[in-house]
Amino acid sequence: MNRIALTTGLTFCLLGSSKLPAQATPLDWTALARESQAVLSDYLRVNTTNPPGNEILSARFLKAILDREGIEARILDTTEVGPNRANLYARLRGNGSKRAIALVHHMDVVPATPSSWSVDPFSGEVRDGYIWGRGAIDMKGNGVAQLMAMIALKRSGVLLTRDIVFIGNADEELGSTGALVFVKQHPDLLRDVEYLITEGADNVLDEKGRVVYFGVGVSEKRTFWQRLTVNGVPSHGSRPTKQNPVPRLVAALYKISQYETPLHVTPGVEKFFRDIARTYPEPQRSWLSNVTAALETPRARDWILSDVSWNAVLRNTISLTGLTGSNKTNVIPGVATADIDVRLLPDQDTTAFLKTLEAIVGDTAVHFTHLANTKTPLESPVDTDLFRAIERAAHDREPGAFVTTPMETAATDRPTYRKVGITTYGFSPFKIPRPEIQRGMHGNDERLTVENVGYGVRFYYDILRYAQ
Ligand SMILES: [Zn+2]
Repeated sequence: MNRIALTTGLTFCLLGSSKLPAQATPLDWTALARESQAVLSDYLRVNTTNPPGNEILSARFLKAILDREGIEARILDTTEVGPNRANLYARLRGNGSKRAIALVHHMDVVPATPSSWSVDPFSGEVRDGYIWGRGAIDMKGNGVAQLMAMIALKRSGVLLTRDIVFIGNADEELGSTGALVFVKQHPDLLRDVEYLITEGADNVLDEKGRVVYFGVGVSEKRTFWQRLTVNGVPSHGSRPTKQNPVPRLVAALYKISQYETPLHVTPGVEKFFRDIARTYPEPQRSWLSNVTAALETPRARDWILSDVSWNAVLRNTISLTGLTGSNKTNVIPGVATADIDVRLLPDQDTTAFLKTLEAIVGDTAVHFTHLANTKTPLESPVDTDLFRAIERAAHDREPGAFVTTPMETAATDRPTYRKVGITTYGFSPFKIPRPEIQRGMHGNDERLTVENVGYGVRFYYDILRYAQ
């Protein structure tokens, strides 16, 4: 690995950066980009397929790099997360006058089927302008951009008012035990952390590859999964009885399926629609710029809700998914169950929603059981130094693009950190066309352009400097 060239003895001021600490050693961004590409290739060769994870290997890999740079780093939680697993923690110290910023990525990757790939998924091969490998997008690429930005800050010697914390978590793709254990075991390491950046939002490009907007994930839906159970009396299917649990369950499910959850616009979602309005012609532009009003108008409402993603960020949703009754056609079962995938908007009260469900069903024979732990609501404020720093750095990268706040409808590790009071954002520093994400992330031929690596390092570096 090459050290980046440092030009010492010179100080410089960034133009228009009067609020920034003035003195820094200039960085050779071309050399840093090349070095970062090599680090990503190496990182992709560390096989952290989960299961089993083996994140101890990635933790050692990252620690070795941090050690060489003189940045304090620790391998943690080797017993708590499981055999051959670990979390990685590092901290670059500032002067402590402001609270810290944490950069978090997960070190594990989902499995890859080599026969379906054009290259060995753990080769880190560079070909056709891409770095190929499982994790290139999700999310070792992002992790390397975070790592190298922190290293660049260290090398540049810029005065930091905030510590920069770097965390690599195990097991995000399966059980999230890495983040859960970290938060539980190390409140002391997180106590001074004000902001945290991890995955959880995408940037949108136009057909020419120009960035339309950068997404900063400030909120996500909460899973509130329920199992409905009806008990009955088993008997022979040839003699129908009133104690058959299946019809009662079906009646309950029908009522739920007919229930339209109320529309509700949260602040981040309202901002998202207002921001993207500019990319639409009239009348859609007017509708999106005031989505609350538009939802009162049937034509606008139908158009907005016809998008399944938009529909899902404007209301609580219920999908009827699992169903069990008898496994024999001629047997009335003793019990029938159904699982429903409920996703709540971040500001909703779980107890109140359960009461609503029970009222809709209106049958005390139908029992509701909560299936998974409901995470902390995630709705981070946008009126923050870090959000403004992201906007400013984004403008430096792409003056024609804007920054907005899409809500995530699936679940990430962010609520785990939000739970301890940290303002948490989802962010990707890369320009990746949607089809690349669609195909590569959890699919085949996951890859990141070589160019994106240096772009992402610079993006994070600017964000971290502007947030000082
Ligand atoms: Zn991920």
